This record gives sequence, structure tokens and C-alpha cells, in this order.
Amino acid sequence: MSLSSSNDAPAVMSVDVEDWFHVENMRPIIRRDTWSELILRVTPTTERMLQLMADSRGATRCTFFVLGWVAERCPDLVRQIAAAGHEVASHGYGHDLLGSLSPSEFRKDVERSKGALEDIIGAEVRGYRAPSFSIKEWAIPILQEVGFSFDSSLFRSFRHDRYGSLAGIGPDEPVVEVYPGFFEVSVSCVTIGSHGLPWGGGGYFRLLPYSVFRLGVSRILRSGRPYVFYIHPWEIDPSQPRIHGLPRSYRFRHYVGLSRCEARYRSLLSDFAWTTMGELLRQWTDEAVYDTQGP
Ligand SMILES: [Zn+2]
Repeated sequence: MSLSSSNDAPAVMSVDVEDWFHVENMRPIIRRDTWSELILRVTPTTERMLQLMADSRGATRCTFFVLGWVAERCPDLVRQIAAAGHEVASHGYGHDLLGSLSPSEFRKDVERSKGALEDIIGAEVRGYRAPSFSIKEWAIPILQEVGFSFDSSLFRSFRHDRYGSLAGIGPDEPVVEVYPGFFEVSVSCVTIGSHGLPWGGGGYFRLLPYSVFRLGVSRILRSGRPYVFYIHPWEIDPSQPRIHGLPRSYRFRHYVGLSRCEARYRSLLSDFAWTTMGELLRQWTDEAVYDTQGP
């Protein structure tokens, strides 16, 4: 299998840096005020991802959306990510679904996370991804006011109880300038009619045969649309503590395919040439300028 050709659209790698207990599926069992008592596994699992990227056949570059709660406790990990040449972006601070926050609570959450990350890396943080893709229309102007220039929280799939939506953005529009200078970069779907079949990662990546998943990625890239993949460090950690008492559907979503995930992730990293969201937007906006001004 060769890397994607230079004629293909860019493939974007993204990682949401959070620990095994931050996941929304754990919320019914693991209370927020117990997080600081739990064993952190995010540093070794993220370092493993950095190693897999360094070992991949292409010069993989990735956008890491880091949770502010993690950044404050693991600043060296954030420095390692930046030092390896990857892009550091924000996954918010406390991993609260946007529907559970007021606009002012949301503003405080993203300001705290952006500030913590920028203090650690000494550089501007431009990107944001909402917990569980729970983006809301009202959040976009706040993100822009706080100083972000892109959001990557839109996952236009078949109905999911947590995913948000933004008016006017379809599943076949991977990059949209929603306000002047502010972009929405959607996680990838294979489109069927007006809906998308999720093809950007998560349980779908762990569940489908890898050859089928790879074919879908190739088809998206050959169509000229960028491809956006996401993964979490806990997805390559089958030894993470198993939580009993979760509802069956949550248990399935979280644990399905964990034991085979690292091997297929290693294949995915080597089967395509991966870049960051910032680089995708740089190419995208350059081409838009070229299109309007001509050669
Ligand atoms: Zn998350």
C-alpha cells in the first residue's frame, strides 16, 4: 500500500488528548469530583501515539486537541507534543457537553484551556474541538472572540444523542468559513443522501474491517475532499481500568475493538500521508485566494 498521492486532498490526523475517565460514557459512574483520585494513563498512551507517528512511513504531523484539565497536570506532555512538530489545539477545560453549559460558562471553560496551553507552549492556540462533538451554534462567535480561528466539532452523521449541528453546513462540505476568518473543519463522513456515515474514527474505526475503512478514506481523498480522522489515547490502551455498571450501549461504544486498535492505527498512519488542521487551512485558504484571483 502506498502513501496517498500528491494529487489527493490532504489527510488530517487529530487526537483528542483526554484520559480514560473523562469520556462522557463514564459520567454515570465516575463523578467529576473524583477525577483527581484516579490513575492517570494519558501520558504513556499519548507518548505511545507520538512514537507510532514518528515510526510511520510518512512524516506524520497531527493536531492534538488537549483537554485543559490534562494540560494543567501534564505540562511536559504538551511540551513533548509541540517539540515533535505537531499542532497543539484545545479540547476545552472540563469536558462538559456544551448543552450543559451556559454561554458564559463555556467562555470561561475555553479561555482557561486556551490560556493554560499557551502558557505551556509559548505559542498561540488556534483550534478547538468540543467534547463529544457537542458543538452549538451560539458557541462559534464566542470561540472567535476568545481568539480561536477554527473549530473542528462538526460530525454530520446519522442521528447521535450527543453530536451537535451547525446550520447550513452539509456532510459534503469539509471546510467552511463560517465567519470571516473563522473556519469549521468537519470530521469525515461518507455521504449517503443528505446524511453522512461516520468515517472519521471512534467505534466505527475499531469495528469495521480495516480494509473497508481504508477504502473509504481513499475514496474521500480521491474525490478531492480533505479527510479528517480523530482518535483518543485511551483507544490504544486495552489495559485501562474496566468500569462496571455502565449502560450496555455506553460499554459497547467505549470498549469495542480496543485490543486491535493500536495495530490498525499503525497501519492507518503508514497508509496515508497525514498533516495538521492548521496546514490544511493554510492550503485551503491559499487555494481560495488563487481561485478568486486567477493565475
Ligand atoms: Zn473528548
